[in-house]
Amino acid sequence: MTERIRVGIGYDIHPLERGRKLILAGVEIPFSLGLAGHSDGDAVCHAIADALLSAAGLPDIGELFPDTDPRYRDASSIELLKKVREMVEEKGFKVLNVDCVVVVERPKLSEYKDKMKKRLAEVLGLSLDEIGLKGKTNEGMGEVGRGEAIACYAIALLRLRDDKG
Ligand code: MG
Repeated sequence: MTERIRVGIGYDIHPLERGRKLILAGVEIPFSLGLAGHSDGDAVCHAIADALLSAAGLPDIGELFPDTDPRYRDASSIELLKKVREMVEEKGFKVLNVDCVVVVERPKLSEYKDKMKKRLAEVLGLSLDEIGLKGKTNEGMGEVGRGEAIACYAIALLRLRDDKG
């Protein structure tokens, strides 16, 4: 028998560089640097997408949206996340909640957290209290601590829909 509750974990990290917009959870955050990547580099959306896909037993975003595919150049990752939600729902799952930790030395995310949560809630069909989002510094250690990268850990819980949806 298939278990009705499934959990998945996702992680992502992107380097910060000049000349890029900083986009996290689909929200543009004013900063002198942005995340490098084939897509818009939104590590929050990528980590959450992998958590959802993993929980549903689907391939990861690297396989589904390869960075060698020109279709995904500068792709909006919040749109990819929307697509991932559709794939997960097509497999019969409903997203119950999502939690994530954004590891970032600067900028401070506190001012943008509500907007980021709202965007994720819209795209995932969740209420605000079903989205967890915390900003943590790396206490000055490693590439994240030196302000060279932003990382994100995410976890998602899914329920297999019954006939009542
Ligand atoms: Mg990524």
